[in-house]
Amino acid sequence: MSRIETWNIGFGRIGEKRELKFALEKYWKKESSLEELEKTSAQLRRRHWDYQCAVGIDAISCNDFSWYDQTLDMIVALGLEPERFRTISDPVERYFAMARGDESRPAMEMTKWFNTNYHYIVPELSAALQGRADASGIIARYAEAKAQGIEHPKINLIGPLTFLANAKRPDSPDVDALGLFDRILPLYETLLTQLAQLDEEEIIIQMEEPVFVTDKAAQMGLLIRNAYERLASIDSRLKLYVVSYFDHAVEAARVLAQTPVAGIGLDFLYDEGQNREALQAIADSGKTLIAGVIDGRNIWRTDLDKRLELLESIAQTVPAERVILSPSCSLLHIPFTLRYEEKMDPAVKSYLAFATERLEELNVLNALFRKKSLAESQHQVLEESRCALAKRRESSHVTDPAVQERMKALDTLRRKRKTPFKERIVTQHRRFGYKPLATTTIGSFPQTPELRKMRRDYKEGRIDAETYERYIEEQIKACVEFQERIDLEILVHGEFERNDMVEYFGEQLSGVAFSENGWVQSYGSRCVKPPLIYGDVSRPAPMTVRWSTFAQSLTERPMKGMLTGPVTILNWSFVRDDQPRSETCYQIALAIRDEVDDLQKAGIGMIQVDEAAFKEGYPLRSAKRPEYERFALESFWIATNVAEPETQIHTHMCYSEFNDIIDTIEGMDADVISIETARSGNVLLRIFKERGYEMEIGPGVYDIHSPRVPSVDEMVDQIHALLEVLPPRQLWINPDCGLKTRGWPEVEASLANMVQAVKEVRQEL
Ligand code: GLN
Ligand code: ZN
Repeated sequence: MSRIETWNIGFGRIGEKRELKFALEKYWKKESSLEELEKTSAQLRRRHWDYQCAVGIDAISCNDFSWYDQTLDMIVALGLEPERFRTISDPVERYFAMARGDESRPAMEMTKWFNTNYHYIVPELSAALQGRADASGIIARYAEAKAQGIEHPKINLIGPLTFLANAKRPDSPDVDALGLFDRILPLYETLLTQLAQLDEEEIIIQMEEPVFVTDKAAQMGLLIRNAYERLASIDSRLKLYVVSYFDHAVEAARVLAQTPVAGIGLDFLYDEGQNREALQAIADSGKTLIAGVIDGRNIWRTDLDKRLELLESIAQTVPAERVILSPSCSLLHIPFTLRYEEKMDPAVKSYLAFATERLEELNVLNALFRKKSLAESQHQVLEESRCALAKRRESSHVTDPAVQERMKALDTLRRKRKTPFKERIVTQHRRFGYKPLATTTIGSFPQTPELRKMRRDYKEGRIDAETYERYIEEQIKACVEFQERIDLEILVHGEFERNDMVEYFGEQLSGVAFSENGWVQSYGSRCVKPPLIYGDVSRPAPMTVRWSTFAQSLTERPMKGMLTGPVTILNWSFVRDDQPRSETCYQIALAIRDEVDDLQKAGIGMIQVDEAAFKEGYPLRSAKRPEYERFALESFWIATNVAEPETQIHTHMCYSEFNDIIDTIEGMDADVISIETARSGNVLLRIFKERGYEMEIGPGVYDIHSPRVPSVDEMVDQIHALLEVLPPRQLWINPDCGLKTRGWPEVEASLANMVQAVKEVRQEL
């Protein structure tokens, strides 16, 4: 085998024009055949392999394509399908039933892949479950890749420890799935034994073990050693490379260095320098190091000169001939290509590199590192890169003196509101006079196809501003009338003007750009197009005041203003890498602060600052959490402490795992928080109670993720359960998230039942 110098951990699969998305959705709607889906899939695989071959990447994955998710593919390869799906004999039908559920079976659970916005299917491992390894799917891909001219297709597998750590045990939810190690490892052994028969030559296996970058790795030493001593000695043709990403994996790397694996992959960009501590052990072991040095999670052009320095310093410990260059993680997490970006400001575009551009960077960096003479095209990439970086450093649309000036005075703003909650809430009750168990919603109301079309038509210039605005006003009016009719007490305007809670604000902020085609897979066929925060952020003009004041003018009842919080905007964007994330977050906070102030000056007395993504920004290593919590909290304070005592600040978070962050939630100092409890019983509420949490809470009383209409009685029961934990004065009654994905009929019925339930319960008080 020729020597491997460059390695791609994985490539996206949804397609640069989201071809897979459309093919899947058509197939699911039974508008196309399986053959058509297969055909599109094969075309995409070929295209993605071609991209990597054309650039000359040495190690290319043959099985990073998936119809839904690579963990689900791993479940299938190990024969670990949950019992309820085993009666489906058709494998394709079974696969999509696991991913999406069918009439009689709920889908498997989905959750975020470490700290990314990609969601994987959670393996369900019951005690009785019998697996059966079957490598035939992988073998087919291997053959396909070889037939298309890939010399040494690399096989990607989710490693056993990550697979187990990410699994759940429905029978015994409190028991760690790692306890099933002895049951799972033999399945991996069988799978690898089958793969060893594939080829006469060496076969490269990439074992992905991102769990090694979490704190759990420290307790896993024995299991890591046991697993990789066994798996790496199955057959001498199999070369195992264990890769981790998203943070440092020092503990695991040191253990792996003492096992027979061929190489160890580490992320040198998101490790804060700590992976250096593993270099000596790797050097002494004589193993290969796969060095993640090109950013697989963000989209800014690489400073190749600086990266070369990083590589050279690594090579002082591990000799260059044993260093392979790779992206920091799979390129699944960034968009495909800049090729179709025609509307973007050319300056901003010149700062970017998406997946295919990343491959070129990898290739050039490799040539520089190996001291090869650069080909003409490589020269060009290097020159363009240097030029763009220099421009970006000096650019006047990256640096905004007014924002810089404000940032200097930030210190005085990093604090809670001056008036403590206990005093504020008295003033607020006096002002609004709402009853205990006040009823409200989280903000958005159904987005109909007609509404979406109007927004699109307006954006693309097919209708004028006046027509559009009149239309939105009508929607708001109908929504306000509806809320009054069913007697909701605290109203919202309905968010009809918003396509997405981050995009809406991103489009109005300076320093933020949008791509036309920068889609990233979130789960299954779903993609997101994150904003690109490239420069100092500011708010040139009010963003929501017009709609909120219009809505308020229609009613005597309080109208909640509705904003997205700074931490959520940060966490759902591609964030500039030329200053700390905290700085960018503070800048967004200042912009939101201005909006809060304008809203209160315009008479909006309740303002909700949504922090839906507060939790997901947490670093994977607990040592790094305090720093995140500090700037996240400070940003929320900066955004909200401009509120007068009589202005009521709400926040909303759509998840229920608060156990470990309750102090921080309390620290946010929001007068009212709405949270998701509908799906998790009232466990969460007890946590708030035990904590002595004093502020007001709206625990969602029904699950908006399902179209089912809960009955009045059901919600009465739910409210009773809440009242067992917290007093009526502290409780608000609302659904557990926004209603934009629901249809009007079920929303009308559910909300009417909710209000009715509150009325019944109030009579008992
Ligand atoms: N206010 C937003 C809405 O109602 C909140 C959405 C969210 O938390 N994801 O849609
Ligand atoms: Zn929510």
